[in-house]
Amino acid sequence: MPAFWPLNAPADNADYTWLDLRGPHYALGQAQGRQTERFVIPAWWPAPPPLSFAADCARQIGELHPPLLDELRGYADGQGLAYEDVLRGVCRQTMRLRARPPYPEGGCSSLAVVGADGQVRVGRNYDFHPVQRVRQRLRLTPEQGRPSVGTRGSVPGGRYDGVNDAGLFICLHVALSDEPAEPQPGIPFHLLPRLVLETCARTRDAVELLTRVRHLHAFNYLIADATGDLAVVEAHPAGARVAAQGEPFAACTNHFRHPDMQRFQPGRRHTHSQQRLDFLHSQSAALQAGAEVLSALSDHPSGLCGHAGGHTTLWSLSANLTARTIAYARGAPCCTGFEALPWPSAN
Ligand SMILES: [Zn+2]
Repeated sequence: MPAFWPLNAPADNADYTWLDLRGPHYALGQAQGRQTERFVIPAWWPAPPPLSFAADCARQIGELHPPLLDELRGYADGQGLAYEDVLRGVCRQTMRLRARPPYPEGGCSSLAVVGADGQVRVGRNYDFHPVQRVRQRLRLTPEQGRPSVGTRGSVPGGRYDGVNDAGLFICLHVALSDEPAEPQPGIPFHLLPRLVLETCARTRDAVELLTRVRHLHAFNYLIADATGDLAVVEAHPAGARVAAQGEPFAACTNHFRHPDMQRFQPGRRHTHSQQRLDFLHSQSAALQAGAEVLSALSDHPSGLCGHAGGHTTLWSLSANLTARTIAYARGAPCCTGFEALPWPSAN
């Protein structure tokens, strides 16, 4: 493992695999394990935690949605790996990067809007160093839990964004903040959107879940449902707050806004994140009047659309929760076509 990983190395071999799977969770995991490359903990992640730590995280996951652990077991078997090793890889203890430079100040941006016509639309750019190769899109129709469509990053079982058959949308954003000196077991960031998509039907259900669980990492979550209920939840291992809810427009970037959450980001400047958030809010009226989500996502002066370093837009999504459509671009939305994916359905 190199001490310095070339984070800016282009990922010419980016993995946008599409999987459309149906069945019990163990079989879903086994199929993913067999049909994807061998799971390797990303070089920029910290060393995995002790098994006892990961086992406590798994216990908490099992309290919310036991089938997700079946999927991880199936995945491990499909890959020929020990379940315990996969679990340790999934339960990352810290967001600190093993390599330099530190976590990029740039990051993901998202918006949700209820239009004057009543249509609920969402948009989101996922930004990180291009060295992140795994950008898989999955549609799962499990025997237990709701069907969903969304993207997976470097570790199995998770979702970085997606929708379910009820028209519920969620996406995640790393929140740049201080971490506890001694991490305590909790739910890993990438499993929370997955848990929400499989167990919740409405924004209020997702908000309840996200404000109830113990978070392993500091992240922001934007949530929207087809009734037009929009929310932003800000989460940290020490607690979570609802930063926004009840308005016809919501946006989210990479810093905490709720007053109770300020203590986790002392002395930090969030210029890039604030600039993107301010821009999105400046577009609120136009978006409610019907302006295209794509034009906001493609903005360059604000930094919404990223083309360099840790702020490279690895994928972009646009969805209409009322019309039940979702499309993804394999890169920056300003210059990459969007591909429609099939809406999740139990049929
Ligand atoms: Zn661009």
